[in-house]
Amino acid sequence: MTQTLLLGGVEAGGTKFVCGVADGDGRILEQVRIATTTPDETLAAVDAFFAGTAAAHGPLAALGVGSFGPLSLRPDAPDYGAITTTPKPGWSGANLLSHLRRTADTPTVLTTDVNGSAVGERLFGSGRGLDSFCYVTVGTGVGVGVMIDGRPHGGANHPEAGHIRTPRAEGDTAFPGACPFHGDCLEGLASGSAMQMRWGAPAETLPQDHPAWAMAAHYVASLCANLTYVLRPQRIIIGGGVMQPHLYDKVRRALIQQLGGYDASVRGLDMDDYIAAPSAGASAGLYGALALAYREATGDWPTDWMI
Ligand code: ZN
Repeated sequence: MTQTLLLGGVEAGGTKFVCGVADGDGRILEQVRIATTTPDETLAAVDAFFAGTAAAHGPLAALGVGSFGPLSLRPDAPDYGAITTTPKPGWSGANLLSHLRRTADTPTVLTTDVNGSAVGERLFGSGRGLDSFCYVTVGTGVGVGVMIDGRPHGGANHPEAGHIRTPRAEGDTAFPGACPFHGDCLEGLASGSAMQMRWGAPAETLPQDHPAWAMAAHYVASLCANLTYVLRPQRIIIGGGVMQPHLYDKVRRALIQQLGGYDASVRGLDMDDYIAAPSAGASAGLYGALALAYREATGDWPTDWMI
């Protein structure tokens, strides 16, 4: 019934842009991966992709975009839709929203990459059936998407819970932290970049009995404790390259300890269910962006996409 609806999605990451066009039933018609180099080069390739799909399939009904940030997301801000102070060279000030709106010449909705993935997980993965949950990625950086009452949360701008302050893990006193803005904020202590600097090797190459993992569990659990106290979500979904399969149970155990049995936070908490891995697959971000486009075009979330 909605097959004739044509939707565009862009998952804009610091390493690559994944662009796709789907019909209204969520079937991907075309998809491309483009390296994130300079804004001019990358966005020219994005433009070329959508010019090609427009020639082949016709105009888009809407375009959804989930992007790395920070982003300016308040509609009345003069730089609305721009990437703001990113350490990614050349991208600070690049206005993705106005560029892509011109490219696709269609209603375009922009949110953070983690919110895009949270939408994907809500519709197709570990957030199914949940109205309030957090989607955390612990990779090159640490990002947190917050869904409240079924909508990505934002106020004056989007939250940046990856940059909270957190107590240091026992014995972790010498490492100055890797965040270019705050030094030893959570991202500065726990991201994949921080682990690489601290241990001299990528996280995924460290053996399971390496002391890095107890420390990583302390920091990820500390983020989860803060999210629990502030939001008490129904679930915290954690993905990203640092989240090796053996780390989940270490995070659960550290979180139980950090919450200290405080009743309001632990009431009804089933830790195995509460801390979960993503399950919508590697395309959660692209499908999240396509679902945002669907909602922009129809007013509803898709209910019967099979991905
Ligand atoms: Zn920071």
